[in-house]
Amino acid sequence: MVEKITVGHVHMSGCTGCLVSFADNYEGLFKILDNYADLVYALTLVDVRHVPEMDVALVEGSVCLQDKISVEEIKETREKAKIVVALGGCAAYGNITRFCRGGQWNQPQMESYVPIGELIDVDAVIPGCAPTPQQIRNVAIMAYLLLKGNDEQKELATA
Ligand code: SF4
Repeated sequence: MVEKITVGHVHMSGCTGCLVSFADNYEGLFKILDNYADLVYALTLVDVRHVPEMDVALVEGSVCLQDKISVEEIKETREKAKIVVALGGCAAYGNITRFCRGGQWNQPQMESYVPIGELIDVDAVIPGCAPTPQQIRNVAIMAYLLLKGNDEQKELATA
């Protein structure tokens, strides 16, 4: 029996396309969740309202600076997660989607949206809009090896 890691999906100002791509791993995703990871935070999938301690945070979307809750949540994510991954172009580079989370405000000023790396340290970036399911799976495997692998596997994951 292998030891599982805990994973969260943190949703900033994004279109949820990255989450769809994550879910597009289909059977591969279920295999990961059955055997290697527990999903502990995902506002659209798990009924948890506060950012918990977790091993890996997959952050989708740029941060809307006008939304104080988002700014607090991304900082809390950094405090609670061992590995923070910028999932997709919005989180990595900002400014692709132009709605504050939930679409409550259409906020046309591009400078209101920043990549998560402008507010917190980021450990890995998965580029693409949306990233492919394979890219996400590969990063998940690397994160797993980094956290639970032996010395050789850890070295391989960071090479
Ligand atoms: Fe949507 Fe693309 Fe942004 Fe992902 S990177 S949240 S798919 S616009």
